[in-house]
Amino acid sequence: CQDACPAKTNIPGYIRCINEKRYGRAYELNRGANILPGVLGRICSRPCESACRHGEPDNGESVGICHLKRGCADLKSPMHRIVEGLYSPTGKTVAVVGSGPAGLAVAHDLAILGHKAVIFETMEKPGGMLMYGIPEFRLPRDLLMLEINNVLRLGVDLKTSQTIGSDFSLASLQEDYDAVVVATGCMKPRRLGIEGEDLENVYHGLDFMKEINAGQMPFVGNNVAVIGAGFTAVDCARSAVRLGAVDVKINIRKTIEYMRIDETEKHEARFEGIVTHTLVQPSRILGTEGKVSGIEFVRTRLDPMDEPSFRVSVPIKNSEFIIPCDSVIAALGQTPDIDDLSPGLGGMEKESHLTSVDGVFAAGDFVTGASDVISAIAGGRQCAHAIDEYLTGLTRKQKVVRLESHASTDRLRSYDFIKKIQMNTIDIERLH
Ligand code: SF4
Repeated sequence: CQDACPAKTNIPGYIRCINEKRYGRAYELNRGANILPGVLGRICSRPCESACRHGEPDNGESVGICHLKRGCADLKSPMHRIVEGLYSPTGKTVAVVGSGPAGLAVAHDLAILGHKAVIFETMEKPGGMLMYGIPEFRLPRDLLMLEINNVLRLGVDLKTSQTIGSDFSLASLQEDYDAVVVATGCMKPRRLGIEGEDLENVYHGLDFMKEINAGQMPFVGNNVAVIGAGFTAVDCARSAVRLGAVDVKINIRKTIEYMRIDETEKHEARFEGIVTHTLVQPSRILGTEGKVSGIEFVRTRLDPMDEPSFRVSVPIKNSEFIIPCDSVIAALGQTPDIDDLSPGLGGMEKESHLTSVDGVFAAGDFVTGASDVISAIAGGRQCAHAIDEYLTGLTRKQKVVRLESHASTDRLRSYDFIKKIQMNTIDIERLH
């Protein structure tokens, strides 16, 4: 499980601490790998749980690793104080563009290493996708701000409402700072590329979530067609329910097993009355007086010639059909917005985090493409260490693994019969 976590969290260690009711210590063990344990305890895509040996055939269900993380974050004493050993100041300054998970992780680790980090954020509040992409019913904002403030209190400066191009440029940052990190994530929505996409009441998933998270109430009407198979599609569908929609359908090209969400999300969407419509692909959006009135789909089949895990969906000829709807939300994912940032910025290397411009590094989804929060944090931390080497010429931190032999795993057969406890949820609060 530890290896499956992109940040290599010491999972057995923190679960042992929880078992001993040492919640603060469990939180610290999490924080050693991941700067936002309370956040990840709610919204992590939890690849560790798929690798859990307790979930193997005949071993029962996997351990609820993610929710245990939430447990220690919530149950630690309100008096709990984070203590971090800081390196002495180096006098070096680094500009971090973007305050999402990767930007925060870079700034946090740079501050620990003694560098002055200044974050530039285009939105009014920090957090990037966490603040504007994820609905509040999944991620409470007071908790998010608390963990962001744990980063800022290390001496990281935050400048909000600062947009590259209008308020500053990459060149000006290069002049004013010893290094620059671009961690602006993936904010450019993938378009459907079909007729009717520019009609009123057609939204792109991230823009739709941004509007809601900025306190607005976009019109959705009674019937909503959501397109997409990932977390954002489900977040949009569940938000549409809270905006008062009566019939919300998620439409996907493949089957439910191919959705890029975990079982909890599938269950919660079903529980809220959201239907998933499989093996369909939108072919055009219909409109009346400039507004959405329906959507045409073509049916698809999974190509049986491919490997099961790589099956592609193939449209079936003459299978078009129309369903009436009041709004369409296309949540097909996002790509990095390189052109707006700096057309000359390219050649990003995942390992070294270097770009083609000297002294300019890149981290998180901006480098890897849209991934998950914990991968962005892990990438941000690696990037901070690459910058530290660039600024000091030294490798000041190295990961050392101690291996000890054990005669047994201490695993009891009775563990296999312990049922995984589902996290309680609050009732749907409609926004209208
Ligand atoms: S951060 Fe996510 S992947 Fe890592 S241990 Fe926690 S739940 Fe698992």
